[in-house]
Amino acid sequence: MATSNSIHHNYKIKLIAVITLSILPVGFPIGYKAVITTSGTNLEHARAHNRRVVIEAIRLNGELTRAEIARLTSLTPQTVSNIATELELAGLLSSHLPRRAGGRGQPATPLTLNPDSAYSIGIHLDHQSLLIVLVDLTGTVRFRKFIPIRKPQPEPTLALIEKILQEMRQQVKIDWRKMLGVGVVMPGPFGVEGISSQGPTTLHGWDNVDIEARLSAITGWPVTLENDATVAAIGERFHGVAKQLSSFVYLYIGTGLGAGIFTDGRIYTGHAHNAGEVGHMVVQPGGRECYCGNKGCLERYVSLQAAYEACGLDPMSAMPEDLLNVDEALFDKWLESAVEPALQAINIMECVFDAQSVIIGGTMPKPLVEKLIKRLTPLYSSVRSRSPQGMRIRLGMSGSDTAALGAAALPIFDEFNPQYEVLLK
Ligand SMILES: [Zn+2]
Repeated sequence: MATSNSIHHNYKIKLIAVITLSILPVGFPIGYKAVITTSGTNLEHARAHNRRVVIEAIRLNGELTRAEIARLTSLTPQTVSNIATELELAGLLSSHLPRRAGGRGQPATPLTLNPDSAYSIGIHLDHQSLLIVLVDLTGTVRFRKFIPIRKPQPEPTLALIEKILQEMRQQVKIDWRKMLGVGVVMPGPFGVEGISSQGPTTLHGWDNVDIEARLSAITGWPVTLENDATVAAIGERFHGVAKQLSSFVYLYIGTGLGAGIFTDGRIYTGHAHNAGEVGHMVVQPGGRECYCGNKGCLERYVSLQAAYEACGLDPMSAMPEDLLNVDEALFDKWLESAVEPALQAINIMECVFDAQSVIIGGTMPKPLVEKLIKRLTPLYSSVRSRSPQGMRIRLGMSGSDTAALGAAALPIFDEFNPQYEVLLK
């Protein structure tokens, strides 16, 4: 999938390095040696990577001088200077008035990201609603449209999206040539047979629709489709509490439950793009029946679906916000049943990934996620036991816009490396 070209590439390099270290000494077929040589010396990849490192450093810190960038990134001052000049000429960076006068040499000129140098669109479609946002490079929302729909069908929904995008183009006064692309989130996965393609958390009738191709034809922009937990993790890394974290897991409470996984600063999507489908980990053997055939799956306890059921709401028509108006005793009953499975899930995530933080968020309303987090104490012992509780679990982006904002981060995440040329228009 397009999102992960650059990421996969990085991942491949890492994997190849592991192979070199661990397998070659015992004698591996010669064919593999050729692969190792070509993958390690990709000059354009290195250049693009350095540009991304510079952009990332400025994004994380707000503003930086060239000297500060060199210090933080371990790139040579000359390399930083070349990249900064190139990015400034491309309009991606803005330089500001010198921070300090006097002293020796030239005064230091801080650089910031130019919010108007790139834009992206995020689309979140689920069983009950369609949300479209347009954001600039710094994540500021420049357009937002929310439309309630019941069980969206492909053709009318695609026509509706086209209509909203036309409306957006008329209303929003920006340089549309700077549009990087569209990120789409839908309940998935797509074209994948598996446990999570069944049950009430999937969208019916969309199996054979190539959404990326159809939307790309409508808009003329690149379109990337991802699952909600993965985009939420990317959004959190870009704009949220995970800005400074390199290894974390984002537990996304939506209709079901999924996890977005960052390891060493890279999103991990797995062999068939299904990494993080944690909703069907069995946490209560012999427990509640799940539509996947298991008993005691995590998402039968920790999900909007489970909360709706506990609160007497109809899962097919309830909206996340409805949970704010239910009898508190009923909601507390759900909390009670969710705490132990959630603690187990956090324990597993910490032990498997050595995650700095397990971030909890999703489309569940923020006050309710906060309530859940308050109840998750004490955490189980794990490799992260020495970190304070407030570091081990954190509140992430929550509420109705989470997935759409994460989706809008996808094209930006995607573009900073291989198709960087788009930024130079
Ligand atoms: Zn299940």
